[in-house]
Amino acid sequence: MPKLMKEILIGLVPVVLIFLAYIGVNMIPFLLVAGVVAVFLIVLKMRGGIAVGASTDRKRKKKGPSKLTFDEIGGQEHPKEELMEALNFLIRHEEIQKYGIRPLKGILLTGPPGTGKTLLARAASHYTDSVFVAASGSEFVEMYVGVGAGRVRDLFRDARTRAQKENKQSAIIFIDEIDVIGGKREGGQQREYDQTLNQLLTEMDGIYNSDSPRILLIAATNRKEMLDSALLRPGRFDRHIQVDLPEKKGRKHILEIYAKNKPIHTDANMDKIAEESYGFSGAQLESVMNEAAIYMMRENKVEIEQRHMSMAIDKVMMGEKTDRESTQEEKKRVAIHELGHAIMAEIVRPGSVSQVALTPRGQALGYVRHNPQEEQYLYTKAFLEEQIMIALGGAASEEIYYGGRSTGSSNDFEQALNIVQTMMKSGLTSLGIINIDMVTTEELMKVNNVILEQLMTRTRSTLEQHRHIFDHSLEILLTEENLSGEQFRCLFRETSLLPA
Ligand code: ADP
Ligand code: MG
Ligand code: ZN
Repeated sequence: MPKLMKEILIGLVPVVLIFLAYIGVNMIPFLLVAGVVAVFLIVLKMRGGIAVGASTDRKRKKKGPSKLTFDEIGGQEHPKEELMEALNFLIRHEEIQKYGIRPLKGILLTGPPGTGKTLLARAASHYTDSVFVAASGSEFVEMYVGVGAGRVRDLFRDARTRAQKENKQSAIIFIDEIDVIGGKREGGQQREYDQTLNQLLTEMDGIYNSDSPRILLIAATNRKEMLDSALLRPGRFDRHIQVDLPEKKGRKHILEIYAKNKPIHTDANMDKIAEESYGFSGAQLESVMNEAAIYMMRENKVEIEQRHMSMAIDKVMMGEKTDRESTQEEKKRVAIHELGHAIMAEIVRPGSVSQVALTPRGQALGYVRHNPQEEQYLYTKAFLEEQIMIALGGAASEEIYYGGRSTGSSNDFEQALNIVQTMMKSGLTSLGIINIDMVTTEELMKVNNVILEQLMTRTRSTLEQHRHIFDHSLEILLTEENLSGEQFRCLFRETSLLPA
């Protein structure tokens, strides 16, 4: 209602004024008074606005997301170091100017999700005492052309005004998922992205000219190869920092960070947990500690034991245990399938099995867990072939015992196919050194089938030779439903002592 009144007034006032002027009243005093009132109102509103803005900012600062420090980020020693060096440029800007080094404008963090890229950006703003303004690439994508570009402009403006208000020397702008706006420009369709990207480039080029506050752009992506080359040119994102999945030491560090506020049993061996959580991201490790605490509570314990953490690893890896009861016949098939994986694994990599289980979990009815291998960056052809044989072991033993396969091997085959592809790309197959795009699908399929068939035959005959191990351990697995690596190896050794 008040709004309507205001509008009627705004409409009415000019009419009245014109009418008065028309009948010959002197208008100058009226206009003067109106002008003074208007100026007064505007000033009042502006001051009110500033006061309101400052108070919300103060609120945000208190519980602010930018309070995080580098110490709260586990592992990632190398990215942290590299980032800090870059940030020192921002802090000691006068010094670097003296040496003629140009300031950094942009830092690109690349790596898989959940590895701590956002955390690093937040810690960066704390480290440099900058205001922190964040946005995600997907926020810039709109149906209407030009909206994204406007948002980019607003983002940079917001950073500048906030720095001024909060009296900070510098501002860090963080754009997550930059690939959404900075994807390769390939004509057609993508006009909206184009404008947004162009605006971003313009703003980045403008960073040089702005001395106060100094602005640093940090962006994150897990798909660096998707980015437009304009973004990667020197003077744009000049520094690329790779943030990888943590290695064992890093995993332990992250686990310890999230163990700090939880009661951990003194016997728990964090080293072991770090080892078991091979391939986990920081985000997954955080959830491991959380789930472990939940398991502890379920059992009415007051301290988290190693067992709880192992269970949590399984849960994060494979989903919650399902209550689904499988039929006895199904269970036997699963046992044979899993034993096939486990026996094959123990043959090619003695000591590598850490658990054989028949408990349904997520999609799987059973599973074999392997001890983590030494982390490796190079694999030989023999190693990859053995890996495929372990994957094929499940289907191979179903063939041996039932004369055919079941649908339970699709994940195994997918894994095997992936390894074959790696082999092809690395020139380890009869195709020789190839670019996979240069070879026809038929040729690829042919080589693929030859490799898999040969390895399937090898797997089957190896398992046939160890049939007595199946016979020896099947009943035990069916009753126990769960064999530890040690138990399994014990059975394995006992069997090899038996007369064949
Ligand atoms: P990214 O941006 O790389 O996808 P985030 O930084 O958003 O990952 O991390 C998500 C969550 O995972 C964080 O809030 C934190 O709980 C946890 N996390 C990830 N990496 C680490 C790490 N290196 N140290 C501690 N916690 C981490
Ligand atoms: Mg993130
Ligand atoms: Zn399997």
